[in-house]
Amino acid sequence: AEAREAYVAARPASRALHERARQVMPGGNTRTVLVYSPFPTAMESGEGCYLRDIDGRDYLDLCGEYTAGLFGHSEKRIHDAVRAALGRGINLAAVGEAETSLASLVCGRFPSVELVRFTNSGTEANLMALTAARAFTGRDTVMAFRGGYHGGVLLFPLSGTNPATVPFPFVMADYNDIEGAVSVIRENADRLAAVIVEPMLGSGGCIPARLEFLAALRKATAEVGAVLIFDEVMTSRMSGGGLQQRLGVTPDMTTLGKYMAGGMSFGAFGGRGEIMGLFDGRIAHAGTFNNNVLSMAAGNVALGKIFTAEAAETLFDRGEAMRARLNDILARAGTVMHFTGIGSMATAQFRAGPIERPAPPTPEEEALRELFFFDMLASGIYLAKRGMIALSLPVGEAELDRLAAAVADFAEARAGLL
Ligand code: PLP
Repeated sequence: AEAREAYVAARPASRALHERARQVMPGGNTRTVLVYSPFPTAMESGEGCYLRDIDGRDYLDLCGEYTAGLFGHSEKRIHDAVRAALGRGINLAAVGEAETSLASLVCGRFPSVELVRFTNSGTEANLMALTAARAFTGRDTVMAFRGGYHGGVLLFPLSGTNPATVPFPFVMADYNDIEGAVSVIRENADRLAAVIVEPMLGSGGCIPARLEFLAALRKATAEVGAVLIFDEVMTSRMSGGGLQQRLGVTPDMTTLGKYMAGGMSFGAFGGRGEIMGLFDGRIAHAGTFNNNVLSMAAGNVALGKIFTAEAAETLFDRGEAMRARLNDILARAGTVMHFTGIGSMATAQFRAGPIERPAPPTPEEEALRELFFFDMLASGIYLAKRGMIALSLPVGEAELDRLAAAVADFAEARAGLL
């Protein structure tokens, strides 16, 4: 309650904005993920890996726009590319050079992507990949994992019945449960078009898939003729060719998004030539902004010049070191709190590990997660409210030191609760 009161007192402008927003948007927003009680902090501007809110408070940005903010807020080469594209005119209703060169970059990097198409978001990329798989196999059902998130309408719950938002018939299994997943695949062999899986659960809590789990999915889908789709919308940052390249498991299709257009809106889906070939006219895929000039221009610089395969390795190593350091601090403080994740992504967990799959949080866990979020905000560090960190390229040693100190302070100040 104290942390919450201090939060409210420090943010009169954010509070007033939320009141206005609620008059015109249900819940006062158009992105559910950004909103929390009593009202969300509204940001005014960003530079490098720092943010300023509309009350004039500054934050170290470790939310990294839920992985889409890989380049930070003011990467000069991205800004220059976007300005240059604007100078040539906003969307030209035509194919163009930048679209083909960005497609070449993506196909050249991801082992599973022979052909690719662009969308505006990861959600659309997944909807199109699933549509392609259904058309290719002539089957209707999709399999996903409990706690998986594949976009606005493609959220798979931890418990309970199938959500009404998913626009296909689907079946579910538990993440990292090899036996359970393989039997669901075999039981549904005749109607199963695709299995869609994040090689690390992102919004489900940065929980990595075991290699044997992904290998078992690869084998079982091949046996029944279902399309294996890796949703690498978040995890593609884990190496030049995504987490699939790092792990050495190649799906039939891959979906991409987030940072790949330098922070402009973006999504992509691609895969084996015989599946993607359906889009030569047999399946339509239009979309006014699919090849929008800002995303295409920024994407070429982002992937081609800045986030090279070498840069991806460096960021991965920095993230691994960060998580090891934070977990060492927490272990020495004697708490079960720890961070899961791979490379430059991490999520705070308030239960003992190892964690193989997400579980509904207990009220205590929920309260600790909230307290951690508000305590970090109070010390000037902005995380995703679920306790997720996504490092961006401008985050340096000084910033990581600051994070480590804040986590150490939290463990000490809240020792009685942890
Ligand atoms: N897939 C994964 C794994 C994601 O994490 C997200 C977004 O967080 C999406 C798909 C949806 O992407 P978008 O928000 O661009 O629609």
